[in-house]
Amino acid sequence: MRKAIGVDLGGSHVTAAVVQEDGTILSQHEQDITDRSFEAVIAAVENVIRPAVKDGKEKDLVGIGIGSPGNIDLRSGAVLYSPNFMWENAPLGERLRSSFSLPVFVANDARCATLGEYRFGMGRGTRNFVLLTLGTGIGGGIVSGGVLLVGNRAGAGEIGHHQIRPTDGFICGCGKVGCFEAQASGTGLLRHAVAVAPSFPRSMLLEKSPDKLGSKAIRRAAQAGDGHALAAWKNFTADLAIGLANVIAFVNPEIVALGGGVSSAGDFMLDAVRDRVEALTTMVPKGTTKLVIAKLGNDAGQVGAASVAFAGGLTEQHGK
Ligand SMILES: [Zn+2]
Repeated sequence: MRKAIGVDLGGSHVTAAVVQEDGTILSQHEQDITDRSFEAVIAAVENVIRPAVKDGKEKDLVGIGIGSPGNIDLRSGAVLYSPNFMWENAPLGERLRSSFSLPVFVANDARCATLGEYRFGMGRGTRNFVLLTLGTGIGGGIVSGGVLLVGNRAGAGEIGHHQIRPTDGFICGCGKVGCFEAQASGTGLLRHAVAVAPSFPRSMLLEKSPDKLGSKAIRRAAQAGDGHALAAWKNFTADLAIGLANVIAFVNPEIVALGGGVSSAGDFMLDAVRDRVEALTTMVPKGTTKLVIAKLGNDAGQVGAASVAFAGGLTEQHGK
């Protein structure tokens, strides 16, 4: 069976996997990223690809697929703009092509994860599918009619940056106010906890400074019934439901899969949003979209990036 290397490049670490064409991961190599300068990241990416090339036996490998944050020039593999890395026109594909004698394809990390989950996770067997990864931000991607939406300049699927609270929301990393990502990511949950804190003067929840407190602690406290955490959770899930209903109105998918750290709340989260999403779904036939928790976790990005390599690059026809 053919093999490819799938690389998931994140803000804090990079992972490379040797992936079979049926989605099976044969081996993985990971490294932390402490320096986000282009040269340091290139070195880290090369460090995880090198042992993967060895594992895969170069002659059996069809290529290297890389999922990177930011807007990507699919032809050259350059990262045109990435706020995470503060890069502009970074020649990621070109640099890696000069280091490895394999074809290199670059695509957005969230689109790669969407492809991975669509082809080998909860999207399997559907033709209309959305993945939303609720982590530090909200990454996403849309498959419609069996095709991953790529858009005019590979910008389709930036679901995290549609505004849901433009007047009273939190400031988003992209500069706008009240983006879905600012309100309903893990970071959003933390911000909701800070916002409602004055109503809970005796709460111990934010005892640690907010930048040291992760959304995980708030989610767990909400699940344990803590009043402050529950108030934050209520506002968080209300915002999550608005964004989900918007996505359903645009795409009418069979399945919306929720991934990322916050989604480990499982049914606790799904139960909190289901009725509200239903109520906000007006023109689209009700009950035609299933909300589920994603299956592949962090592996989705690597498997999806490998599938981009199998296809010889991301095109509008990808996913068929
Ligand atoms: Zn934004």
